[in-house]
Amino acid sequence: MWKEKVQQYEDQIINDLKGLLSIESVRDDSKASTETPVGPGPREALDYMYEIAQRDGFATYDVDHIAGRIEAGKGEDVLGILCHVDVVPAGEGWDSDPFEPVETDNAIIARGTLDDKGPTIAAYYAIKILEDMKVDWKKRIHIIIGTDEESDWKCTERYFQTEEMPALGFAPDAEFPVIHGEKGITTFDLVQHSIVDDKDEPDYELQSFTSGERYNMVPDHAEARVLVKENMTDVIQDFEYFLEQNQLQGESLVDSGILVLTVEGKAVHGMDPSIGVNAGLHLLKFLSSLNLDNNAQSFVAFSNRYLYDSNFGEKMGMKFHTDVMGDVTTNIGIINYDNEQGGRFGVNLRYPEGFDFDKAMERFKSEIDHDGFKIEIGKVQVPHYVDKNDPFVQTLVQTYRNQTNDMTEPYTIGGGTYARNLDKGVAFGAMFSDSEDLMHQKNEYITKKQLFNATSIYLEAIYALCVEE
Ligand SMILES: [Zn+2]
Repeated sequence: MWKEKVQQYEDQIINDLKGLLSIESVRDDSKASTETPVGPGPREALDYMYEIAQRDGFATYDVDHIAGRIEAGKGEDVLGILCHVDVVPAGEGWDSDPFEPVETDNAIIARGTLDDKGPTIAAYYAIKILEDMKVDWKKRIHIIIGTDEESDWKCTERYFQTEEMPALGFAPDAEFPVIHGEKGITTFDLVQHSIVDDKDEPDYELQSFTSGERYNMVPDHAEARVLVKENMTDVIQDFEYFLEQNQLQGESLVDSGILVLTVEGKAVHGMDPSIGVNAGLHLLKFLSSLNLDNNAQSFVAFSNRYLYDSNFGEKMGMKFHTDVMGDVTTNIGIINYDNEQGGRFGVNLRYPEGFDFDKAMERFKSEIDHDGFKIEIGKVQVPHYVDKNDPFVQTLVQTYRNQTNDMTEPYTIGGGTYARNLDKGVAFGAMFSDSEDLMHQKNEYITKKQLFNATSIYLEAIYALCVEE
């Protein structure tokens, strides 16, 4: 019956979605102002959602033009549906204009179809259809719309400074069935602080070392520049042998007396570094076999003692596992050294509920002090978790099963979704197991089947949560 309901709205859903997709709602700080806090595009997309809501008779509420909500229902508790209308830049290589939606027999192609404009319109229509059915609401509903999800979440930060936190909610910004837990996500730097006096005559002086640019990626390239005073050929031979032994790609060349060594690794997302190859840590491993100057020696020794071949925090004394959320993971995403400033490792550590991050940092801090290193803590996001047996989660899962017959269990991830902005929130769709994931890629599209099926699932779920209960 839910699918038939949605059928009556197919044309309207597509029209409203195409209108939203036509707005180039990419963050543009060069045009930011109080009127357009993250640029004119995201603001225009937010206003567009207000316009269709007002056309359909819903109240809207704006929060500083960076976020806002569409309101429906009545009752004590609020169900929050957290969406966003900003998109990542189009990038190169599209077969059509990314901001002129192309409708084919079974799909719509444009930037934002999957992330997150399609799911936003699907969730909106679930509410609209129920409203048209004149249901007797038992909860209030806030469709909360952000405009800065793809960058800094300034939208939700500002929104929840003043606005009501929903009692429960979901973000239609990931996958079905339900993502009910997300690890804590932290970044910190391990910084060499005591630069020691050099010993008399090191054979090799490490002048600089660079690898990686982002905390949350495994670096796939590393470069070291070494001043070699003698035995240049031996070092090059040893390096070739090292590459072969470790099945790595790399190169050596001599550039006006300086030996330049590079290693290529394999870049993967930092949430699971064990499936990548960290070019930087491998190159440091090789450098540790040379009789380097003192500072460089303590830099490379640090890498071997605490970081090399240790993707689960083992060597930092941070190994931790829960059956529900898995392991602590540690990615060394950025590695830098120069012979005047010393060295620095940028770490992205992700941890399950139950891991005491502060205590682990305290302990590690005192351990590495003797090695001449200190810790500078960056961003810390605590784990986000809703029990999968919670009736709320079970209702969402049951709805999904009713309509798909897919018995996949709710699961947890190492990444972060928009749902973590809610106190009690989960990610719920709108990707199905057979959807092609082209989020943030060229030729992003949503099939009409996916769009309508998601709408139908949201419709039944919201009915169960806000009308039946
Ligand atoms: Zn998104």
